Amino acid sequence: MPANILVVEDEPAIQELIAINLEHAGHSVLRALDAEQAARMVREVLPDVVLLDWMLPGQSGLAFARRLREDERTRSIPIIMLTARGTETDKIAGLESGADDYITKPFSPRELVARIKAVLRRRSPQLTDEAVEVSGLRLDPITHRVSAHDMQLDLGPTEFRLLHFMMTHPERVHSRTQLLDQVWGDHVFVEERTVDVHIRRLRKSLESSGHDHLIQTVRGSGYRLAAVS
Ligand code: CA
Repeated sequence: MPANILVVEDEPAIQELIAINLEHAGHSVLRALDAEQAARMVREVLPDVVLLDWMLPGQSGLAFARRLREDERTRSIPIIMLTARGTETDKIAGLESGADDYITKPFSPRELVARIKAVLRRRSPQLTDEAVEVSGLRLDPITHRVSAHDMQLDLGPTEFRLLHFMMTHPERVHSRTQLLDQVWGDHVFVEERTVDVHIRRLRKSLESSGHDHLIQTVRGSGYRLAAVS
């Protein structure tokens, strides 16, 4: 599934090369030339991944990564550091600053795209296009279909995203606020009870195959998708 990727790189030629390759791979690219510009963009829209050059004019990529990790809102955005440095010490400093991965320049565009996919799969499995299956319930992000055994289930777009997120994070309890952030998106102001409405619709859609019981209400906390029926 396509992701929104913020590329923070001060060398225009490299920025262009990265952007072309990521767009070719189906992603949307936001570009920033330094940490301040990147910080402004992140305040507006949370990206799914930040590709961050280490050596930037002004605040370094390393310091910006730490800044993202210190803020509750941006804490869990996956970060991939890009750098010409390749020594062990630098690698460790990069990972300690909160980066999820590290790519040394020069890199191949294919490697970059593959690393982004790996980070997305690890950190935000609902953003990848791999089919997921839980207890006989199968969701395919490419065909946008949900099936149980040989039966096609009919889901609305919000219920589909909600189920995708819950199936890729099974057994965990999600609060209504977390579900709003993850499924409806950041900076979207909807009431928490909207979540309850869509959970109800989702259960209804799963009733025909008997999978509605997978969606559990955790009193006082939120909702969970049970991995075992
Ligand atoms: Ca640079």
